[in-house]
Amino acid sequence: MDSLDKALEKKGIKRRDFLKLMTATVAALGLSEAYVPKMVEAVEKGVKKPAIIWIKGQDCTGCTTSAISSLDPGPAEIILDLLSFRYHETIMAASGKQALEAYDATIKEGGHFVVLEGSIPVTDDRYCKSGGKLIKDKIAHAAETATAVIGLGACGAYGGIPAAGPTGAVGVDAIVKDKPVINLPGCPVNPRWLFGTVMHYLMFNELPELDEYKRPKIYFGNLLHDNCPRRGRFERGEFLTDWNSDEQKDWCLLLMGCKGPKTYTDCAQGLWNDGVNFCINAGSPCSGCTQPEFYAAGEADSRVGFSPLYKRQDSFALPGIGGIDAEKVGKVMAGVTAAGIGAHAVANVIRGKKNNEEGGDK
Ligand code: SF4
Ligand code: SF4
Repeated sequence: MDSLDKALEKKGIKRRDFLKLMTATVAALGLSEAYVPKMVEAVEKGVKKPAIIWIKGQDCTGCTTSAISSLDPGPAEIILDLLSFRYHETIMAASGKQALEAYDATIKEGGHFVVLEGSIPVTDDRYCKSGGKLIKDKIAHAAETATAVIGLGACGAYGGIPAAGPTGAVGVDAIVKDKPVINLPGCPVNPRWLFGTVMHYLMFNELPELDEYKRPKIYFGNLLHDNCPRRGRFERGEFLTDWNSDEQKDWCLLLMGCKGPKTYTDCAQGLWNDGVNFCINAGSPCSGCTQPEFYAAGEADSRVGFSPLYKRQDSFALPGIGGIDAEKVGKVMAGVTAAGIGAHAVANVIRGKKNNEEGGDK
């Protein structure tokens, strides 16, 4: 009996159920079915669990909570069993000297993944230390022998909300320059994105293809707006303007500040909470938490940010439609509503079709 069969027997899992589980896992991670044989092979070789050093910077522990909150017994639990969390300040059993010894031993052994949850302060050495070391030094040291470094959540990837404060917070990419960096943003991260990325490495012995912001294209390659369940409402010019309206409850949230037309993520297809829901289905506009612009610091920050979260977007362009300005759409909509004209006039405006007869804005 090989080590995988022994491990399955210990857990009371039959091999046939295990194969079904692998198929479900691949689907849950947002990967194609073609990955199943590779995943089984990876698990069979899985005696070598990828070691993880999880460092926390300026964070709220939301990404840890998200990552370990899957259904029981969910696919992610099996994946967790396959990873080796050598150092994680929130969930590890060890503490003090014992914890730091495990940390040092993992770095000495090498080949691990470093995960940064939270951002790194850089303006002042008073901020954010762990084990007596500044976080920026701790990250640089842990990365020296690592396979790759993961910037987790909006903060670990791009500085996130702490970047709006006085600490000059940055993501891991700004500190680690000589190792592959993968950004898995979101506020918080979706567990699919984390475990899927690590499993991809296990299966193919290489990191997934990344986009210009170092995000895996398998999860962040498509515009949310293109896959949104409310896209038909957008096309018809049906924009929610009254939170209390029953009629408008599943209308497009553009005028309520939705950043979907500027946000790359698979939230609408892969969903959250083990495939249950996501922001827009729950009635909330997308706040663009997977984009570097998610939380900029206003005047103190040169980035053009998405905050405040309910602020309408500046103009944006869509393929086949051209430039759209949410403020302008809002004004046009207010005008046609006052004039008792149907929402299709707004749809014409957003498509750039001028319609004087129905009061469309030029
Ligand atoms: S603007 Fe937002 S709610 Fe409207 S279709 Fe696009 S992503 Fe969906
Ligand atoms: S829908 Fe938008 S705000 Fe919600 S998790 Fe996805 S990217 Fe973030």
